[in-house]
Amino acid sequence: MDPCEISPAYVRAIAPYQPGKPIAELAREMGLEEKNIVKLASNENPRGVGPRTRAAIERTLAELSRYPDGNGFELKDALSRRYGVDMAQVVLGNGSNDVLELVALAFLGPGRSAVYSQHAFTVYPLATQARGARGIAVPAKDYGHDLETMAKAVDEETCVLWIANPNNPTGTLCSPAALEALLRRVPERVMVVIDEAYNEYMPADLRADTVKWIKRYPNLVVTRTFSKAYGLAGLRVGYALAHPSVADVMNRVRQPFNVNSMALAAATAALEDMEFVARSFADNLQGMRQMREGARGLGLTYIPSYANFLTIRVGKANEVYKRLLKRGVIVRPVGGGYELPEHLRVTVGTEAEVERFLSALAASLKE
Ligand SMILES: *Cc1c(COP(=O)(O)O)cnc(C)c1O
Repeated sequence: MDPCEISPAYVRAIAPYQPGKPIAELAREMGLEEKNIVKLASNENPRGVGPRTRAAIERTLAELSRYPDGNGFELKDALSRRYGVDMAQVVLGNGSNDVLELVALAFLGPGRSAVYSQHAFTVYPLATQARGARGIAVPAKDYGHDLETMAKAVDEETCVLWIANPNNPTGTLCSPAALEALLRRVPERVMVVIDEAYNEYMPADLRADTVKWIKRYPNLVVTRTFSKAYGLAGLRVGYALAHPSVADVMNRVRQPFNVNSMALAAATAALEDMEFVARSFADNLQGMRQMREGARGLGLTYIPSYANFLTIRVGKANEVYKRLLKRGVIVRPVGGGYELPEHLRVTVGTEAEVERFLSALAASLKE
């Protein structure tokens, strides 16, 4: 007998997540030197890690034989002061991806359903499927979330509604008014997740007051990460802010030491480094302008983005993706589960990286 068959059918039906290609892998495959490869495939911060955060990471080296603080006291304390919430409202995760999984573990299972949008972050269908719950994909509107139709799609079995704001891989944004209208409309037994992985890249005037809304809507879970604007993708740390009872349930299903000590120390230091985040925000605006102008110069259209990447329509995206790889530039095709076979998602890198990408793209389109 095939041991695989012992696994529930809904687990075997999972399509593996496809990450951006690592630099070392492309170097091996193409015989390129790593330093000549540009990776704009995973929305990482091209600024790297700030000096104060680096120092905090180095200080943890002496204590690595010890288990981390399983309650993450210092980071939770810093987050609760920054966002004006109680420490009991914070759930820490091994990346915000972990926190999304905790939502699925705590609230989904067979006989339940979850609503998400077409073109939305694939972790939502993956986490839903892994719990044996039914996914309800709602067609996108102008590449973004159609919140009205999503609210209508909630059925008697729905326990979770996933929203990425801004969305990855389209960069689209929902207005605060539309988000609040959804919260007002959806029954309280449905957990509404607003995934704000790109929160720090949004202009302040477009940000919704999601954290304040938690008081009014106890079924709201806000998730954020240190992987993007804070530049700590490799360390894996993210968090959720929620009503204390919701946070309590999520904390029950997490591993006791799900966030490592280096990640905890780094995130605590990074949170204080306001200047690093402000510079990352400003760099991104500049790089986004450069990318948009470059795309327009090549006669291409793109989906207007409020995050640190731009999703550009290039035609036969898989072909163009491969031609870019040959030129040492890694971007992210978004066909497959994302259903955007003509687009490539490109992270806003440094000025030089964007330049490299644009000239490789120009050459690839002519090939
Ligand atoms: C990158 C991303 C995340 C999570 O990344 P982590 O590194 O796990 O924190 C979550 N949601 C969206 C929409 C993302 O793009």
